[in-house]
Amino acid sequence: MTDSFKPSRPLPVNLRGLILCIVLASVLATLCNSLVVAYRVQRDALIHSTLESNAAYAAKVASSIGEFLRAAHNNLNYSAKILGKHWDDPQVLHEEALRLEAQDQYFNSVEILDANGKVLASNPPQAQIVGSNVPASGIRQALQERRALVSSTYVSRQGNLIVFVSEPVFSKAGVFLGAVVGSIYLLDQSALHTVISSHFHHEGTFAFVADSNRRLLYHPNPARISEVLGENLAVDAALGGERGSMEIRNSEGVEMLAGYSQVPDSNWAVVVQQPREHSQATLRRLMHDMIMGMIPAGLLGMVLVFVGTTLIARPLRLLSAAAQQLSAPQTTELLQRINAWYHDASAIRQAMLAGVQLLQQKLGRLSHEAQSDPLTGLANRRAMEELLSVLEQTQQPYTVLALDIDHFKRVNDTFGHDAGDVALKQVAEILKQNSRANDLACRSGGEEFSLLLPDTTQETARAIAERIRQSIADARIPQVGNLKISIGVASKAGAPMTPQQVLKLADERLYRAKESGRNRVVSA
Ligand code: GH3
Ligand code: MG
Ligand code: MG
Repeated sequence: MTDSFKPSRPLPVNLRGLILCIVLASVLATLCNSLVVAYRVQRDALIHSTLESNAAYAAKVASSIGEFLRAAHNNLNYSAKILGKHWDDPQVLHEEALRLEAQDQYFNSVEILDANGKVLASNPPQAQIVGSNVPASGIRQALQERRALVSSTYVSRQGNLIVFVSEPVFSKAGVFLGAVVGSIYLLDQSALHTVISSHFHHEGTFAFVADSNRRLLYHPNPARISEVLGENLAVDAALGGERGSMEIRNSEGVEMLAGYSQVPDSNWAVVVQQPREHSQATLRRLMHDMIMGMIPAGLLGMVLVFVGTTLIARPLRLLSAAAQQLSAPQTTELLQRINAWYHDASAIRQAMLAGVQLLQQKLGRLSHEAQSDPLTGLANRRAMEELLSVLEQTQQPYTVLALDIDHFKRVNDTFGHDAGDVALKQVAEILKQNSRANDLACRSGGEEFSLLLPDTTQETARAIAERIRQSIADARIPQVGNLKISIGVASKAGAPMTPQQVLKLADERLYRAKESGRNRVVSA
């Protein structure tokens, strides 16, 4: 392996932020997707239902017009039978014309023509040209074909757009006599108008009717009646006898949802249409309501996500903080206090606890090794200095004993260095036995020892020193026999002395103890 391990730079974002981002992104993606799908499904359903209803509406209008024309034919047929019997009686002809026009609301005018197209009677009188030949193609067609007819539209000499409904008149013997013709003025408020416009209109939906020449017979905009339409697929389909619905583009390029149907017994087309945009507007309202309806639940969801991510991230955040100070003595307790409420966090906490204990054991061993004397197991000089500085900082009174074995050189010279070591251990053991829990016994070097006695007065310390001296003097040291020790005592009891000054004073008194004959304690 030539590549050394390089840790990658972490993103400057915490776990809760990450979870929040991921959850919010996925929620938003799902929401947008749902909205788009709902929009499409609703739009298709709306277009489908609009087409269906427009087709049904067109069929209804067409059948109403068909019924209207059938009723008009029936009325004319009834008259034709009467006229057949009384063709030679102008009075009857006149009365029939009068009755048809006045009695029924179907016709704007009524005319009775002979087989040559000569008007025999008409009502109202201003529309009549009694005695003259009427050249209108619709009437000519009725006379030629000798059957019930609905004519194409045409413009009369008076400027009326007219549709004729005609019925032939036969004599009893079956001889063709002429025709009775009802005219509907499309530009006026005719009965046909009323039939068509009585259907409801909403959301921009409207109906128009065109004849076989695509001439508009009815349109909600009266100015367009009589206009001849350009190509229109819905009109063409209806004129072809079909009924149904389709999406078309009108002459102005507007997309329309159109239903169409043919009027029975006449070649007219009924188209009912609604601009596509109108159904989109309905849809937009629907989507708006949907989104508004989702907001409270969405907000509640956000709060839940926030609380959830906080709860999930919390133990990991605390574990991460504890990881910054694994060697601190309070870390174990800190880790134990973390509520690792789910499996992964708990496993990490366990692993960290084990790691911290291992680390602190190792550190403890190292510090013990650094602060103890390997031969005697007593503290060393460094440990004593650390304790002195703590006592100094906390301003606790203390007393120091400086001890030095008498004539130790001789011991070594007489019994050997190893026997000297055994003697040193023995002395250390006696020192331990004579120290209390808070005292610190240390080997300050060679055959010199110190005993640090916190919260101890000079007098008490002197008594302790005396006891130690006596114990050593009384002890029977293996291989060596008897040993004696001299002790200097110095105390920091309120006097403004540094630890060094106290140690120095203890050393001076030890020196004096040596000077004045050894095997004694000097404390003043
Ligand atoms: P005094 O009464 O004046 O103290 O006389 P002394 O012979 O004890 O003199 P000093 O304190 O100067 O002697 C120190 C001797 O201690 C020198 C050395 O041989 C011995 N010594 C120092 N360290 C060790 C040690 O680790 N092991 C052994 N066996 N002897 C040591
Ligand atoms: Mg010495
Ligand atoms: Mg000595």
